[in-house]
Amino acid sequence: MKKIFYLIGLLIILLFGYFVYGFLQIPTQKNKNNIKNNKKTQIKKNKKINTVVFIQPLGDVNQDYLKLVKESVEFFYHFDCVIKETKPLTNDLLTVSGARYSADKILEKFDTKQNYLILTEKDIATPKNQYPEWGILGLGYRPGTTCVVSTFRMKRNVNENVVKDRLKKVALHEIGHNLGLSHCDNNPHCMMNDAKGTIKQVDLEKIWLCEKCNYVIKK
Ligand SMILES: [Zn+2]
Ligand SMILES: [Zn+2]
Repeated sequence: MKKIFYLIGLLIILLFGYFVYGFLQIPTQKNKNNIKNNKKTQIKKNKKINTVVFIQPLGDVNQDYLKLVKESVEFFYHFDCVIKETKPLTNDLLTVSGARYSADKILEKFDTKQNYLILTEKDIATPKNQYPEWGILGLGYRPGTTCVVSTFRMKRNVNENVVKDRLKKVALHEIGHNLGLSHCDNNPHCMMNDAKGTIKQVDLEKIWLCEKCNYVIKK
């Protein structure tokens, strides 16, 4: 009889031990998962914070313009911007006529895995329909890491404040293309509208993306 009591006692102790161990084990596993998840979100957050856009002046570019683009991109997209040393506008970047620079050649030359916004004060062009050299304000890969902006066509008969306002919008528009946005006809005030060869469209826009474009970016 004593032996049976002894065995039952042992069994109770074992069962008790098992439950205590179980209870201890479950929260530990949960904690481990929590730590893993925290690490994942941490990495995601850091990735976002660490997105860097290099601003590359091509030829002589007004320092105020460079600073303005840097501040606008940082403010609007929350990317970090680094202004690079100026690089010369070389002849290999000219269009066939030699009258302006090829936006496509510029993009090709500076296309890397890093994000680059190239800024120039010279005229840039791209082929459009029957026009081999259609003058533009900017061009960007969609999606991609490289875009180019020119202030040349922003300056006619307007004061500096207007030029700066246009520059901000065009820079944010081209980065929008890099982020995968196509042209928008959802709202005339959205920055992703196609300028269609007129600066008037840019002037109509706000420093703003419509809900449709915002949705695409945040996906
Ligand atoms: Zn565009
Ligand atoms: Zn839009």
